[in-house]
Amino acid sequence: WANAPLTLRDIVVAGRAHGNKTFLVYEDDRASFEAFSRATLALAENLIRGGVRPGDRVAIAMRNLPEWPVAFFAAILAGAIATPLNAWWTGPELDHGFTDSGASVAIVDEERWARIAERRGGYPALARVLIARAPAAPGTESLTDLIGPVAAWGDLPEGTLPEVAIGPEDVATLFYTSGTTGRSKGAIGTHRAGASNVMAHPFSAARAFLRRGEPVPVPYPGAPQKVALLSIPLFHVTGCFATLVTNLYRGGCLVMMRRWDLARALALIERERCTSAGGVPTIAFQLLDGMAAGTHDLSSLETISYGGAPAPAELVRRLRAVFPKAQPATGWGMTETTATFTHHQAEDYVHRPDSCGPPLPVGEAKAVDPEGNALPAGEVGELWVKGPVVVAGYWNRPDADAEVFREGWLRTGDLARIDDEGFITIVDRAKDMLIRGGENIYCAEVESVLHEHPAVVDAAVVGLPHPTLGEEPGAVVAIARGAETSEEALRAFVADRLAAFKVPVRILLHEEILPRNPNGKILKSALKTLF
Ligand code: ATP
Ligand code: MG
Repeated sequence: WANAPLTLRDIVVAGRAHGNKTFLVYEDDRASFEAFSRATLALAENLIRGGVRPGDRVAIAMRNLPEWPVAFFAAILAGAIATPLNAWWTGPELDHGFTDSGASVAIVDEERWARIAERRGGYPALARVLIARAPAAPGTESLTDLIGPVAAWGDLPEGTLPEVAIGPEDVATLFYTSGTTGRSKGAIGTHRAGASNVMAHPFSAARAFLRRGEPVPVPYPGAPQKVALLSIPLFHVTGCFATLVTNLYRGGCLVMMRRWDLARALALIERERCTSAGGVPTIAFQLLDGMAAGTHDLSSLETISYGGAPAPAELVRRLRAVFPKAQPATGWGMTETTATFTHHQAEDYVHRPDSCGPPLPVGEAKAVDPEGNALPAGEVGELWVKGPVVVAGYWNRPDADAEVFREGWLRTGDLARIDDEGFITIVDRAKDMLIRGGENIYCAEVESVLHEHPAVVDAAVVGLPHPTLGEEPGAVVAIARGAETSEEALRAFVADRLAAFKVPVRILLHEEILPRNPNGKILKSALKTLF
């Protein structure tokens, strides 16, 4: 059923069946599935009238606002390639996004517009700019003038699906990688990749339909509504596919936050009775503190899920101890796997807290040696993955295509071990691994041990140059407010648990959570300069 003829357009059609249930909540704005569908069809029609043709890129550069999903699906229904740009990007980074994608339309919020207003002349392909939640500036149009404020979306005409031929192999999305290991690359996602990921998601009600090979599953109308706190950016595949698209399909409500803020998150979970929350592991750690503080009624939470960066084994243990009612869940994925590729929860996760789970049923994975030969169970090698969720390649990057795609497999650049039951454990990024005098040190392993120390709330291990050993490990840790510890105490703590060569030679204590990029990845290059 990985070959079922599904497109992201089918997901929009399925979502509309949820009618007047609430789909999007943002501050005081609420939009039902029906209202959302009307706004999306109205914008899709406007884009087509404005000249958007299949394959054109429509850039979306805004925070998590209700207009984001409307822009995303309108572009897709018009047959265009929805191209989300990172809202944290500065002017020069946005230049890369606009020039690399060659977007002809940009749908932006006011803040992003302020960042590109002066630079727009440098994007020759960009013909049209729509600004959300703001009056039109010269040379732009106001999105609100076109589709109205959120509260009035339900009054828009019913609309019709544009008559654009869309098939599973057509390109639907261009998401940019986080740029952790180099310049951000555009990953080309087909309709099949986007839809397969959603359909394979364990939280989706779709599986039964897929097993029967039905192409357009009807959402389960009677199921109790799930309410997800969306605390990760929609321009990242996890926010978009694992949260937005999945909830549109299954009729879940999305409670949107403009940006992550713990106090606001706790208040929203209580007010909206959210059933799930999470994002990246740091967010889960912060939620844990919020739960432990006991200031809010969080009893509605059924799931705390996170991924995108290493989740120390300690996290699942603490979550179970502090909040036994909410199920911890984790997963591994890349922009190139259109969000979640592995998924791990429930008893499996408690018993294998280091793992990120087995691949979703639509995927295959193997750990390989440097020659690309599959390794026996339990041995560490580069993780290669395959399946319908894997993107078709990189935009304008034949060099990266040649390096990363091999005989139908995607070389992930992550080092992993797959045990004899198929559970995958990510040990490190190949580029993060240190070699100290010939001994491999996986930063993630040392970080995980540091996290076990009660005073430590965040930890990163980086390679420090050494004249004869090549590299040796150094660590930066964030200490809980009011907690007392020292560099020596922490080194001793690690030395009790790991071989001597893995013990960081220096540990810097930090008062703040460590700097991260918007996708939750610690900025290790910035930390190296602290030593
Ligand atoms: P770039 O490819 O531009 O350097 P990036 O790899 O950080 O940036 P993403 O596609 O956002 O861009 O991230 C994918 C990477 O995130 C994976 O290759 C992996 O290193 C890391 N990752 C994702 N999930 C997990 C996880 N559960 N555990 C450990 N690492 C994870
Ligand atoms: Mg990557």
